[in-house]
Amino acid sequence: MATTTTTTATSGARALAGRSAIVTGSTSGIGLGIAQAFAAAGVDVMLNGFGDAKEIEKIRGELADEHKVKAVYDGADMSKPDAIAGMVQNAIKAFGKVDILVNNAGIQFVAPIDEFPIAKWDAILAINLSSAFHSTRAALPGMKQRKWGRIINVASAHGLVASAFKGAYVAAKHGVVGFTKVTALEVAELGITANAICPGYVWTPLVEGQLDGQAKAHNMTREQVIHDVLLAEQPNKHFATVEEIGALAVFLCSDGAASITGTAIPVDGGWTAH
Ligand code: NAD
Repeated sequence: MATTTTTTATSGARALAGRSAIVTGSTSGIGLGIAQAFAAAGVDVMLNGFGDAKEIEKIRGELADEHKVKAVYDGADMSKPDAIAGMVQNAIKAFGKVDILVNNAGIQFVAPIDEFPIAKWDAILAINLSSAFHSTRAALPGMKQRKWGRIINVASAHGLVASAFKGAYVAAKHGVVGFTKVTALEVAELGITANAICPGYVWTPLVEGQLDGQAKAHNMTREQVIHDVLLAEQPNKHFATVEEIGALAVFLCSDGAASITGTAIPVDGGWTAH
């Protein structure tokens, strides 16, 4: 007979104290927003991603000081399976365990399929999709042992629907959504959940960086791309914020979200309701 467990929805400051997390690609944008939300909820955080060493150290120090959590940094390249496994081992060394894994690192490139550089296709598939397999593979054994874990894959609205000129990105993000479902099914009885967050457009360096490519592909100005291509998809006509994504990630790690697994949750102002 099925047993019922009563849990209390965790909310408020330091709601996740005692947990530890890896957030890949957290030196910038959405990943940094999630890392900041986790630290504010009392989570020890491993940062990852590229950037200026001094700037990253400043981010790390501020997170630790402001929120009184452990904050460490691992510069693993998400296109390198051995480095990803090493990052997970380094987090276990630093925190004793990895309770929460957020696969967020990602890159973008925009071009028609017949002009799409092969190296860009390979890099996008490696960083945006395969990295989630390598990190999940390394983090799952400890989660299974402790019978608790939260895996959050930052996919995209492009994990649910397609846009022209984003062949590699859309393929990778649809793959992430599928991999999230498989992960959820394999560990459903073990207190571990796996979900994908599917943001629409969030104003980050990744979006700003694609404006020139989009402008060329659509034969438009950058301003036209913002209004006629990007926000044209988003019925509420706003970019989503990294704070909104961070708040959802914190909720998915709470006891209140214990039964939410295998989902792909849009944060897209209504885009995928079309
Ligand atoms: P961003 O460019 O601001 O941040 C990307 C992060 O990934 C950075 O920390 C960067 O250093 C890191 N990164 C890139 N390549 C890496 C590698 N090889 N190894 C390790 N780290 C690497 O971008 P963002 O907009 O914050 O995007 C974060 C995630 O959200 C991506 O997976 C992206 O596809 C997804 N997403 C973004 C949007 C958006 O509108 N910004 C929408 C949907 C999904």
